[in-house]
Formats: sequence, structure tokens, C-alpha cells
Amino acid sequence: MHSQQVTTEPPSNDTVGDVPGVLRSPASGADRAPLTFDVIIAGCGPTGAMLAAELRLHDVRVLVLEKETEPKSFVRIVGLHIRSLELMAMRGLLERILQHGRQRPAGGFFAAINKPAPKDLDSAHAYLLGIPQPVIERLLEEHAIELGAQVRRGCTVAGFEQDDEGVTVELAGGERLRSRYLVGCDGARSTVRKLLGVGFPGEPSRIETLMGEMEVGVPQEEITAKVGEIREIHQPFWLRPFGEGVYSVVVPAAGVSDRAEPPTLEDFQQQLRAIAGTDFGVHSPRWLSRFGDATRLAERYRVGRVLLAGDAAHIHPPTGGQGLNLGVQDAFNLGWKLAAQIRGWAPETLLDTYQAERHPVAEDVLDNTRAQTELLSTEPGPQAVRRLLTELMDFDEVNRHLIEKITAIGIRYDFGEGPDLLGRRLRDIDVKQGHLYGLLHRGRGLLLDRTERLTVGGWSDRVDHLVDPTAALDVPCLLLRPDGHVAWIGDDQRDLDDHLSRWFGKPAD
Ligand SMILES: Cc1cc2nc3c(=O)[nH]c(=O)nc-3n(C[C@H](O)[C@H](O)[C@H](O)COP(=O)(O)OP(=O)(O)OC[C@H]3O[C@@H](n4cnc5c(N)ncnc54)[C@H](O)[C@@H]3O)c2cc1C
Repeated sequence: MHSQQVTTEPPSNDTVGDVPGVLRSPASGADRAPLTFDVIIAGCGPTGAMLAAELRLHDVRVLVLEKETEPKSFVRIVGLHIRSLELMAMRGLLERILQHGRQRPAGGFFAAINKPAPKDLDSAHAYLLGIPQPVIERLLEEHAIELGAQVRRGCTVAGFEQDDEGVTVELAGGERLRSRYLVGCDGARSTVRKLLGVGFPGEPSRIETLMGEMEVGVPQEEITAKVGEIREIHQPFWLRPFGEGVYSVVVPAAGVSDRAEPPTLEDFQQQLRAIAGTDFGVHSPRWLSRFGDATRLAERYRVGRVLLAGDAAHIHPPTGGQGLNLGVQDAFNLGWKLAAQIRGWAPETLLDTYQAERHPVAEDVLDNTRAQTELLSTEPGPQAVRRLLTELMDFDEVNRHLIEKITAIGIRYDFGEGPDLLGRRLRDIDVKQGHLYGLLHRGRGLLLDRTERLTVGGWSDRVDHLVDPTAALDVPCLLLRPDGHVAWIGDDQRDLDDHLSRWFGKPAD
């Protein structure tokens, strides 16, 4: 599975230091360069690549600037949760992605409490997909490029200034580029966020952890016998098979030399010996990393023409494997709204709904990772709470609530009063043309109509109309936004028109 060379990552996640770049005054007035791009995205991680693709669905001119000359080389396996898999299905990417990952049961995420998921989770994709992060990044980048996004590597965003018409972006080498909007998808240490002066309040890193994948030199039985015993006393700790002879290893980083230096195999051996009395003969590492548990959330996601998404907007410990998922879902929420703004049909407040919807979601993820971190402590108090929660998770409702939270299928945006489905995402249902998600590849709105008497009228350039009296729904008709969230439920044309205006602006003449 892993044939790559050993690579290590520098520590991540908690530095909010000074900005290296110098913001020079941009050209002004008549000297300004033309608006060559509609959107410049800083950073081609999973968030930036997903956003670029979403914007290209609407013909927006996109340039992605990525400071690294080559894609990431460390091979960290990340988990794609249900909602992210659904997004991939909605854009026709899922089949491609499934070929590169391993499906696992959707359960046991919350603080690693080992409870299987309820059998009837409300999704056609009720599993976890383990996939190397560089692979998902490559697939998303390829997808964006196929759709026409330009990606320039080796380009570091070092400064910018915005005016009434656009943003002048300055690269580390001094080159200047103009676009109508700039989105910082430039990760936890985001230059864009810092230059924007947006606060990043939260807690600094308290506990550092080493994580990696490697082979072991002893039989599985020997490991199993020891691991349970050690986990009673030491957290975070695990050593578990990951398939094809590779083990995933997590040990505390306390006492390991210089945090500025990437960890080494010797560091893992030393930590294992200290807590287990043996290093299990670990060897041949695939990747090694060190991370902290800093938890921070940007105060704002938008200042004028500059926006933030992904790790640039929020950081938290990797417990539950939510960070990449959260960033990709930010991009999915932002893409069509920013495109609407650029294409000129966005209702006045549409772009602001990005922060209104996504900031509370990130707040909730930060909170659940804080809770999980406490539950992983070996102190007697948190251990007692963990035992209690473990008991409570035998109740289906509790187990379901936690799984829906971590997998992001439980999200309900506040669209005002209405049935429970309003504001939630709709699962992939069967419709007469096949699967619903198969009809959403173009990133347009969709009126799913069982009444056979409604119309999308002057919005037909932005919203598709699917008439299917047999669709598996228990409502007469619903309007889906391009991100698959239910924006309206009903059967009255006038009410529908009001909601089409609310989400899709003025009708065409
Ligand atoms: C040990 C560990 C395990 C994890 N496991 C999971 C998991 O199972 N599931 C999950 O969902 N998440 C997981 N995560 C979190 C996940 O890796 C991140 O949340 C995700 O990478 C964030 O994506 P991003 O695109 O927002 O930022 P990044 O991946 O950090 O990408 C930012 C990009 O911007 C570029 N960049 C930075 N500055 C500039 C600049 N000035 N100009 C141009 N480019 C710039 C960078 O080179 C980088 O390519 C884990 C994290 C850790 C540490």
C-alpha cells in the first residue's frame, strides 16, 4: 500500500506568529492592473482545490497559488466521513476516489469509543473512507484543473490589498496579480488571515502527540496483549494494524526533543520503550508526524473581498478526523455563493450566509474535539465520564447523534421556521432518472417536484426542474441549493418564487 519514502512533517497546528511577508502599497487608480482573474485562491490543499473546482462549475476565472513546488509527500491517511463522500458523489467524483481508499465501518470515531454505528444511518454512503491525504489532494486538484482552474505552484502569497473593485495580490517574488476576490485556503498558519488582521482566538497547544505508520518486529498477539494494558494508563497511545503489515502508532510527544524538528523513528522507539518497556521492533516508517491540540477559530470568515476557508479559518486536534472534511465542506458551501456574486445574480446577503452557516459548524467541531480530548485523558474524572458516555452510547439516539455530528450529516442550517428537513442536506434518493446526486454534477439548484404543476420560470438558467411524482420523499416538492441543502419545502408557486428569489436572485427576463 505504501511504497513512498519515509517523509516527515514539521509540527503543525498552533503557531500564530508574525507574518513573514511585507505588505507594500499596491498600485492605485489608473495604475491598477486589469482584473485578470475573478478569484485567486491562496493554497492548493484540499480546501483550495475543492473551492477552485466549485467555482469553475460556474465559469469563474480561477487561479490557485500554491507555495510548494510539488504536491505534499507525507502519506498521512485521513478519513473521509459520510458528508464528504456525499459531496464527492454530488460532483461525480466518488467512484474515482473509492478506487484509492479503503472503506471501513462508520463507527467508533467519537473519542475512539468502540461502538458500531446504528444500522440505518440516513445515507447511501454510510461508511468511512481511509485514503492518503496526498491522494485525495491530487484527485481534487486534477478535478479542478479538468474543469479549467489554473494552478501555479511555487507561488507564495506574501501580501495583498483590497479596493472597491478587487484585490491586488503580491507574490513573494514581487509579482502582482489582480482579481475580484481572494480566498485564503492557506492552512493553519494562514498568511491571508494574518494580513487581514482577523483574530484567531482559542487555546494554544497543551499536549503534543507523535503519530506515524510503520512496520513492527513482533507478532500481533504480543502487541494485542500489551496494548490494552498500556491504554489504561497512557493516553494518547495506540498501536494498531492498518493493513498490509503496517501499523498506525500514536504516542505522547512529551520529552521528545526539539518541536521545531520533524520527528524521527528513534523518537517513536524511545517513547514506546518509555511507556511499554519495548519498542515492538518498529521499523520502516511510512510517515511520521507531530501535532498539537491547539483549538482556534477565526473571528470572521470575510472582510470585504477577502475570505477564509479550511484550516485557515479553524484548527483543532485531529480527534475524530474532521479537519479536512470541514474544510472541503466550507469550500462546497462557499463556491456557488461566490460564483453567484461574480456572475451577478447573488441576492445581496447571499455571500454573508457563508459565515452565518459555516462559523457555527466550526464552533461545534471545535467543541466536540475539546470534549473528545477530555474523554481521552487518563485522569480518574474524565475516565469516569468516558465510562458513563460509553454506557449512554448503548442508547441508539445518543450513538446516532454523535455519529451524525462527526460525519456532518446532522448539520441543519438556520433557514427559519419550517419542517425538520428544511436547512438539512437531502440524502441521495432514487428518482426516475437514477440517483438524485447524479443530477447535481453541474452545481446548480434543483427543484424536485412531485406535484407536476410547479415551474422554475425565470430561474431556469440557475435551477434545474425535476418532475418525479414517484420520488421517495414525504413532501410534495422541495428546492435544493447547489450544495444539496433543502432551501424550501411546499407546493405553492408563489411561495416557491419567493424562495427562488431569496437564494437565486432576480429571475431572468
Ligand atoms: C495527524 C493528523 C491527522 C489528521 N487526520 C485527519 C482525518 O482523518 N480527517 C480529516 O478530515 N482531517 C484530518 N487532519 C486534518 C487535515 O489534515 C487538515 O484539516 C487539512 O489538511 C486542511 O486542509 P486545508 O486545505 O484547509 O489546509 P492545508 O492542507 O494546510 O493546505 C494549505 C495549503 O496552502 C499552502 N500555502 C500556505 N501558505 C501559503 C501562501 N502564503 N501562499 C500560497 N500557498 C500557501 C500550503 O502549502 C498548503 O498546500 C489531520 C491532521 C493531522 C495533523
